[in-house]
Amino acid sequence: MRIGCGYDAHCLVAGRPLILGGVQIEHETGLLGHSDADVLLHAICDALLGALGEGDIGRHFPDSDPALKGISSLLLLERVVALMTGKGYRLGNLDAVIIAQRPRLSPHIPAMRDRIAAACGAIPERINIKATTTEKLGFEGREEGIAAQAVALLCAVG
Ligand code: MG
Repeated sequence: MRIGCGYDAHCLVAGRPLILGGVQIEHETGLLGHSDADVLLHAICDALLGALGEGDIGRHFPDSDPALKGISSLLLLERVVALMTGKGYRLGNLDAVIIAQRPRLSPHIPAMRDRIAAACGAIPERINIKATTTEKLGFEGREEGIAAQAVALLCAVG
């Protein structure tokens, strides 16, 4: 078995869609980034890459690559999962937390879980997604950005 952790944060700005866990959420601001800036999926990619000893998302998908501009982070996650499968591992379980003051995320978590499970080739029961506010503390609390953390356990196949 191998374990990895991931963390990411992106700025909230006007004029961008808010996409978290592969789900577009109605909100007056969205996350800024080279890809779709899906901070949850980036943290998950980093947890998987960390467990594989494969560095980080910036090494595999540099934000200087024009081919990745505006790309859905579900596609990045699928590429990381292909790397995991190629190295002979499957997802044991994944736990993640989104840190955001607003909007209220709990209604969207089942859809995020389903999309992440599909991208990971895993049943949804292996995925847990949580959301928390920071009681208005820090950059997340001031709604300047959203952060996410993830931990993944991988099991060797066979
Ligand atoms: Mg990121």
